[in-house]
Amino acid sequence: MKQIFKCDEACAICDKAQYNEARFIDKLRLILHLISCKSCRDYVRNNRKLTKKVQSEIGELTPDAKAEMQRKIDAEINRNSRLQSN
Ligand SMILES: [Zn+2]
Repeated sequence: MKQIFKCDEACAICDKAQYNEARFIDKLRLILHLISCKSCRDYVRNNRKLTKKVQSEIGELTPDAKAEMQRKIDAEINRNSRLQSN
């Protein structure tokens, strides 16, 4: 069976689909790709497990812990954007 698109494209669509950012046509193409590609099926399975685990652990955090985590993420993003602009 001819691949609908390449594995790296399939993984990118999978990541977008995880956050509901993929277009319907891309999801359809992803499903068609997954039918014929075992390595991408494994990737999707692992991706879903990871997302579930992260979401359940974030759900258990206190509001203070979430705010502290957000502060660290923002600081890191700012640090990286400063490094890139230099
Ligand atoms: Zn693939």
